[in-house]
Amino acid sequence: MKQLTSINELNTEIHQYKHLGNTIGYVPTMGYLHEGHLNLIEAARKENDIVILSIFVNPLQFGPNEDFDSYPRDIKRDLELAAKCGVDLVFSPDVAEMYPSEPSYTVIVKNRVNVLCGRSRVGHFDGVATVLTKLFNIVQPNRAYFGMKDAQQVAVVEGLLKEFHFPIELRAIETIREQDGLAKSSRNVKLSEQERKEAPAIYRSLTIAETAIKNGEKSKDIIIEQMMKSIEQNTSGTIDYIEVLAYPELQDIEVIKGKVIIAVAVKFTNARLIDNITLDV
Ligand code: AMP
Repeated sequence: MKQLTSINELNTEIHQYKHLGNTIGYVPTMGYLHEGHLNLIEAARKENDIVILSIFVNPLQFGPNEDFDSYPRDIKRDLELAAKCGVDLVFSPDVAEMYPSEPSYTVIVKNRVNVLCGRSRVGHFDGVATVLTKLFNIVQPNRAYFGMKDAQQVAVVEGLLKEFHFPIELRAIETIREQDGLAKSSRNVKLSEQERKEAPAIYRSLTIAETAIKNGEKSKDIIIEQMMKSIEQNTSGTIDYIEVLAYPELQDIEVIKGKVIIAVAVKFTNARLIDNITLDV
């Protein structure tokens, strides 16, 4: 497995891959790899000749009071895991390589961002879309792999690929969970012991909603209220949002019908956790 930190060197490598007619599967991450990431790598491994993983904690997608500095990082461990999973090349640039100066051009996302994380993390998806536009142009993948854990990100990337005519296929991969249901996340290590015990209540609230909907509940407000109660009773966290929306449009709905996403964000002391399920009702 190769590791490169320079865009120039990566360009040369990509040129070689393309010249030899290889297809490229690309998994963008912020590192501190867990099984959620490894599952994306496996999916990419199955469908492509070459698998490229990027590890870059992108300052542009963090707000001023967010956890850019304290975001967990362990490149040595990540490289070992990536090699074991059959990654061909890890691209791990530093911030100066990706942004040698203050960016003069950024992507502004206008659709699908006035809800969920886009509303509570203003500018977050502009940062995501900007870095992905750069990374897609650098890596030139045939397919890009994203996790449904960040379902709003999947929706935004789908729009980005379409509107900017990137010849890249988007693959959205299911959420990988701990045995107790908690969605795997690099940020889970930032939970206290007590918070870690409470955190599975987030997914439990989603399963409560799913059961209620399957039993015929059509009212969004009732679902949200049940989830809110369940999270408030079982965690010390603060609910950032609970929303039920049409998916992938992320538009408001009156009654629960068709493809919907139920999404939740909860703030603990040092970690804000998100989770969601999508249903076809
Ligand atoms: P991150 O490193 O958090 O930016 O995540 C990189 C990619 O891994 C994104 O496409 C995430 O949606 C995906 N991902 C993160 N956690 C999980 C998970 N538990 N299951 C599946 N995919 C995940």
